[in-house]
Amino acid sequence: MPSAPLHLDTPLFRTSADYSASNKPLWLKLDALQPSGSFKLRGVGRLCQHEIENGAQEIFCASGGNAGIAAAYAGRALGIPVTIVVPATTSAEVRQSIEATGAAVIVHGTVFDEANAFAIEQAKASNAAYVHPFDHPLLWKGHGTLIDEVVGKDADFDCVITSVGGGGLLAGIVAGLQRNGLSDVPVIASETEGAASLHASLAAGERIALPGISSIASSLGARQVAQHVFDLPKHHPIESVTVTDAQAVAACLKFADAYRILVEPACGAALAVADVHPDILARFKNPLIEVCGGIGVSLEKLKAWKERLL
Ligand SMILES: *Cc1c(COP(=O)(O)O)cnc(C)c1O
Repeated sequence: MPSAPLHLDTPLFRTSADYSASNKPLWLKLDALQPSGSFKLRGVGRLCQHEIENGAQEIFCASGGNAGIAAAYAGRALGIPVTIVVPATTSAEVRQSIEATGAAVIVHGTVFDEANAFAIEQAKASNAAYVHPFDHPLLWKGHGTLIDEVVGKDADFDCVITSVGGGGLLAGIVAGLQRNGLSDVPVIASETEGAASLHASLAAGERIALPGISSIASSLGARQVAQHVFDLPKHHPIESVTVTDAQAVAACLKFADAYRILVEPACGAALAVADVHPDILARFKNPLIEVCGGIGVSLEKLKAWKERLL
């Protein structure tokens, strides 16, 4: 029997119709309120539990932020050491938050792929388990609990809006919909321009790697989505959209003013869809937005992004 989940059943809010340009009330699933600050604890927690049940005594994870915090939180809750490998681009604040949660931090490489390769190598050398931040079936299963919770509250929704980095969250939402008999509920997958690896791959008809990331939404900065994620639109209705960094930041600011909660631009990308793509939302009655959260935000950062972009 798997142990009790580490994540919380988060609140579900309903906006008024005039909250967004879509002119309809939106369901907001508040995963920003997870103890790790983002939805990541759902899948990462599940995967860490699985590894420990199978004998792991140590965990390695590569991450630029929120997956690392989630793994650190899981390791502390489950009582085993965790090491997070982060690329040099990860801010000092995020590194300190990971360390404060109780994990060791190693800085390696300049991009996620380099940090990830090193984490795999180190896990092998130390006979430890390696936890991928977005590409593992159990991770998707764990992320899918957000849909179980919304369904459990009898909330009527007819599309789900989510942001996409490597696509673990998207895969989890699709898994959650399918196991709840909601295979016909479309998912609108949002990325910021400059981090739109899914959008570019779908346009090209093949899974491509972006040459680089030029968006401030660093949690969406996977240069390439997982193969499973690229294949998802063959099995589930998915629409890929993009928003600008400025639109994502505007959505974060509006959400902060309305609900007094700070979220990363990576999360703003999903929130922005209701204002930027009302044409798409016109086809639905009750959109659900996954408010995925993120710790890489502060009043100061939001202010700086606002001054630069808006
Ligand atoms: C990880 C993350 C994402 C993207 O999730 P993927 O599973 O990589 O697609 C989006 N928003 C936040 C805040 C994240 O931490």
